[in-house]
Amino acid sequence: MAQRVSVNISRRNGASGGAESCPQCKQLLSAVELRDNYSVCPNCGNHFRLSARERVAMLADSGTWNEIAAGLRSADPLQFFDLRPYSERLEEAEYDTGLGEAMIVGSCRIHKMDAVLMVMDFSFMGGSMGSVVGEKFWRACEAAIENRYPLVAVCASGGARMQEGILSLLQMAKTTCAVELLSEVPVPFISILTHPTTGGVLASFATLADVIIAEPGALLSFSGPRVIEQTIKESLPDNFGLAESNLNHGQIDMIVPRSQLKDRLVQILGMLEGGVACALEPLWEEEAGRPGRRGPLAGALGRIKAFANAPWRSLKR
Ligand SMILES: [Zn+2]
Repeated sequence: MAQRVSVNISRRNGASGGAESCPQCKQLLSAVELRDNYSVCPNCGNHFRLSARERVAMLADSGTWNEIAAGLRSADPLQFFDLRPYSERLEEAEYDTGLGEAMIVGSCRIHKMDAVLMVMDFSFMGGSMGSVVGEKFWRACEAAIENRYPLVAVCASGGARMQEGILSLLQMAKTTCAVELLSEVPVPFISILTHPTTGGVLASFATLADVIIAEPGALLSFSGPRVIEQTIKESLPDNFGLAESNLNHGQIDMIVPRSQLKDRLVQILGMLEGGVACALEPLWEEEAGRPGRRGPLAGALGRIKAFANAPWRSLKR
């Protein structure tokens, strides 16, 4: 006699017939609607997570992306095994994302201006930083210094990769040293913090940039609010660790909605070149606030102007 069997099927990455439900306001959004709106919910403004490749397509001029160190893969020096072998997790992440690691690095042009761009992908093991992520960041800095290109980093990370133990924590020191090399030349470094940027990445290179931009609503916190609440046995404000709270506390320079992100990046790169600084400066000055009531943007503007007034592109080490 035939038996009835019910099977629950859930699709990953929201691929339910091209429609996706917004996790914030629950509105059902079509794939076309999302794509046309930079993967931002038109109803509540929630910024959906983007893959590293989508970020490159959004920021780099078409056909100019030239990837660096694409063949680097993590080793498994500790032969780490939690519920499953680390090597198996790496293989699965590569299969799911089509990426060799949680970060891609390359040179490109952004509105016809040369730059080195590095982008993290949260879908690859939570954007965690292991030895290869650290090495790729190092090579991005080397390429930026060698060519005198500004470095633009798009960050998304859960922190250090526990499967690499102390080796992952060492990447905090390594990437910090790499930023130090950038500042010695100097070569400008712009960091774009997206949801979520946490742990060892937030506590190292992500927040050491000359200009720090964040997307609205991004969680930017060393630990998640729930972990902190459990530790200190106190409840935290609703906006704890969010980009807006970080801006109020002077931790970041500006919050830029994704639809305006490339334009704002182009403005900064243009000002760094010195060429269009004169045209844009009054607008930025107005946005930075009146003397005596200067907002967070004022600090970034000062650092950009310092580059614009120095021949950093032609300086040789
Ligand atoms: Zn929404």
